Amino acid sequence: EAKDSGRNTYRFYRPALQHAALAKRALEKDLARAVENKEFCLYYQPRVDCQTQKVVSAEALMRWQHPEKGLVFPGEFIGALEDTGLIHRAGDWIADRAGRDQRKLADMGYDIPISINISPKQFERPDFVNRLTAGLAKTGCPNDRLEIEITESMLMGVGFDAKAILMDLCRAGFSIAVDDFGTGYSNLAYIQDYPISSLKVDRSFVNMIEDQSSVINLILSLCRLIGISAVAEGVETIDQLAWLRMNHCDQYQGFLYSRPVPLESLIELLTSRHQRKMRSRLPETLDA
Ligand code: C2E
Ligand code: MG
Ligand code: MG
Ligand code: MG
Repeated sequence: EAKDSGRNTYRFYRPALQHAALAKRALEKDLARAVENKEFCLYYQPRVDCQTQKVVSAEALMRWQHPEKGLVFPGEFIGALEDTGLIHRAGDWIADRAGRDQRKLADMGYDIPISINISPKQFERPDFVNRLTAGLAKTGCPNDRLEIEITESMLMGVGFDAKAILMDLCRAGFSIAVDDFGTGYSNLAYIQDYPISSLKVDRSFVNMIEDQSSVINLILSLCRLIGISAVAEGVETIDQLAWLRMNHCDQYQGFLYSRPVPLESLIELLTSRHQRKMRSRLPETLDA
């Protein structure tokens, strides 16, 4: 009967598996068209100085303007871009768009760096750094105004020589941030040996601030000890910001200050009128 139930299980799951496989293939076809027609756009989330509430940079986050489904978020399609290899062309487009937008901001008097997220698949290309540099040169954005966000697991370099790539990026003038820090496995020695300029503390640890978790304290101490800046992700409440200020976190991102927004809205956030408004709003509430 073991055989029977095995067969039943098989028969039971097959339609679901088939459905998933079909859906995946449809998504991949959809994405090939999206890359061709440039249906993507970048939203920007400001990164803010914890003490002064000044916007110091912005992170580019990909969105897909789907002709039928509307705005689609990266959680739904980054994996498929990676599986199909389309991530390389998409990645070229992201760097180009971010570079042009940075240049546009600089020309308007808001010369802040932009960060872009890089997938491990992109590091597997031996010409990654050269492609990035050549592509960016066409936009008028200097390399030192673009920051590369990588995840912790990329430091281990499975399928590529992480140290060599990071050294090349650094020599070319790019700064490097480690994203979602604390969620993966990291060899702390890498953090000290590699040319990393900031650690972005994952939102899950920021959420634990109220429960007096010490993980975030540990990460902030590590940053101070080795002299790199600490950025808190996903800050949603005034209390979280107050705690981060008190515990010497350098910068933060989160819905508290702003959700990711289109470039036109980011420009709005950068105006001195808006910055003044936020500076008076956030510290006042904190001191109260
Ligand atoms: P990430 O780089 O860690 O980006 C932060 C994510 O947290 C963004 O989600 C952002 O909208 C969200 N977030 C920011 N502040 C808050 C907050 O206060 N509360 C909450 N609940 N969420 C907040 P998003 O845009 O959906 O992006 C998800 C992930 O997709 C990114 O995580 C990044 O890993 C990846 N991604 C986004 N754009 C790109 C891209 O252009 N290339 C690559 N390779 N990956 C990308
Ligand atoms: Mg990121
Ligand atoms: Mg992140
Ligand atoms: Mg995150």
